[in-house]
This record gives sequence, structure tokens and C-alpha cells, in this order.
Amino acid sequence: MGRLGVALLCLAVTCGAFSAPAGSAPAAVAGAPAEPPALLLPVQGIAASDLRDTFGDGRDSNQRGHEAIDILAPRGTPVLAVDDGRIVKLFLSQPGGMTIYQFDPTGRFAYYYAHLDRYADGLAEGQAVRRGSVIGYVGSTGNASPDAPHLHFALFRLGPEKQWWKGEPVNPFRYLGGKQP
Ligand SMILES: [Zn+2]
Repeated sequence: MGRLGVALLCLAVTCGAFSAPAGSAPAAVAGAPAEPPALLLPVQGIAASDLRDTFGDGRDSNQRGHEAIDILAPRGTPVLAVDDGRIVKLFLSQPGGMTIYQFDPTGRFAYYYAHLDRYADGLAEGQAVRRGSVIGYVGSTGNASPDAPHLHFALFRLGPEKQWWKGEPVNPFRYLGGKQP
């Protein structure tokens, strides 16, 4: 086994350690995947104490996991960029409705905002955004109930190909400042 093989093996072992205790802060390990940064709460007027950890909830009769956080807010509430970075894709999808994919400045993480009522005026793919910029407004497009407008927010660790539609889901709850009751 060459030097690369050993390095890959170490990486695999390190990754395994990450899936251990839920909610505990993983220790910094050399060669471990990068930790997401602390994120701004993406819905104006919502406090970290208002967040509920819905990442592990089942969807479609538990056929798939939620792998995101839902933040309830009145329709039209401004949606804010959680971090500096770039708008990579504005995408209309059946489940997500009107959505935004943003990459962080390092290109290691993608932020996904869904069920938007509309985008901020002038928002465009390729545009640089600052943490706290208004990028859209809370709504219920896609498969969200019209009676319960909310932001569906997801965090992905991107692969080496940096494909906006493909990444490893990471629970954003504690990076948004959420605390378990
Ligand atoms: Zn959701």
C-alpha cells in the first residue's frame, strides 16, 4: 500500500469516529473533514432559542430523512444569507419550490434555502453575497403547506467536484446556535 493508500485509510477511520455520539462536538483531528463555520440565523427576527432540531425527522412515510431544519415564520419574512459566499444556483423544484443554493467562500459547503415566496430583487446566479444579505422571502412554494410558511434550510459538505446538487448532508442545528432542550 502506497502513501496515498495509508492516507485514505486514516481518513476513513476518522470519518467513522464522527458518527459516534450525536450532539457532542467532534474533536479536531488532522485530516478530518472541515467543520462548517458558525452560521447566521437565516430568518429575520428568529432567535436560536426558537429553533427545533428537525434534521432527523422522517419524510414520505420515513422513506427518506428530512436532513434539514424547518424555520417557521410569516410569509414574506426576509431570508438572510447565513454566511458570505456566492449564489450558485436559483432552482425551481417540485419538493423545494423556489430555492437558492449558495456556496461558502471556501467552496467546501453549500447552503440550501427552500419554499421561498420569491427571491430578493435582482438576485442572480454567480452573485457574491455577504452574511446577512436579504436573498429571498419566506413562503410555501413546492410541497410546503400553504398554512405553514417556513424556510427549509440545509447544509451540505461538497465533494471535490463542487456540484451544487450533490453533497453530504450535515445537521445545521448547532452551527445555527441551536441548543438541545
Ligand atoms: Zn423541511
